[in-house]
Amino acid sequence: MRILLATTNPHKVKEIRELLTGLPVDLTTLARWPDVAAPEETGATFEENARAKARYYAAATGELTVAEDSGLEIDALGGAPGVESARFGGADTSYVEKFALIYRALAARGAPDSTARFVCALALADRGRILFETRGTVEGRIAPAPAGDGGFGYDPIFFYPPYGQTLAEAGDRKAAVSHRAQAVRALRAFLESQF
Ligand code: IMP
Repeated sequence: MRILLATTNPHKVKEIRELLTGLPVDLTTLARWPDVAAPEETGATFEENARAKARYYAAATGELTVAEDSGLEIDALGGAPGVESARFGGADTSYVEKFALIYRALAARGAPDSTARFVCALALADRGRILFETRGTVEGRIAPAPAGDGGFGYDPIFFYPPYGQTLAEAGDRKAAVSHRAQAVRALRAFLESQF
C-alpha cells in the first residue's frame, strides 16, 4: 500500500513517519509532486482544512492521501491563533515575533498563563472520498517564557503540566502525548484494520 503524506512541513513529516514505522506502507511526500500547487486553506475549522487538503491532493496525484491541519488554541484569546496558527501575525513573521504578539495579547487580558491546546485534525482520502478522519488534542498552558529548542512552531511556549516542561523541552516524549501523535495512532489502527 502506498500513501502520500500531504504536507510540506518537514517536522510534521518526521513526526508522522516515526509514528507509522513498521506498517507495511510505502510513505511518499509532496516532494514527489513538485508541480502540484498548494491549495488555499480557507476552512473555518481544522477538520474542514484537513478534509479539503486530503481530497485535493488525492485528486491531483491519484494517491491514497493523508492530510492534517493543526494549530494552537489559546483560551484567553478566544481560541486564536487556531486555524491561522501558521499565518498568525503574517505568514512571514518568525516564531519569536509570534510569541511576542501572543505574550502582549495575554498580558493585555491579564491571563499570561492561559490554558491552551494543540489540535490536529487528520483525514485520509481516496480521490474524492474521505475514508477515515480523526482529531487529536493535547491540553496545556502558555509557558511563562519560551523554553527549549526541540520540536517546532509553538512548542517552546506550550507548557505541558504532566511533564513540567514545554513540548520543545520534552524531546522524544512529545511523541507520547502530542495532538499529532494521537491522531496518527488512530490512523495507524485504522490502516492495520484494513490489512
Ligand atoms: P498548518 O500547516 O496549516 O496545519 O499549520 C500548522 C501550524 O500550527 C504550524 O505551522 C505551527 O505553527 C502550529 N503547530 C501545529 N502543530 C504543532 C506542533 O506540534 N508544535 C508546535 N506548533 C504546531
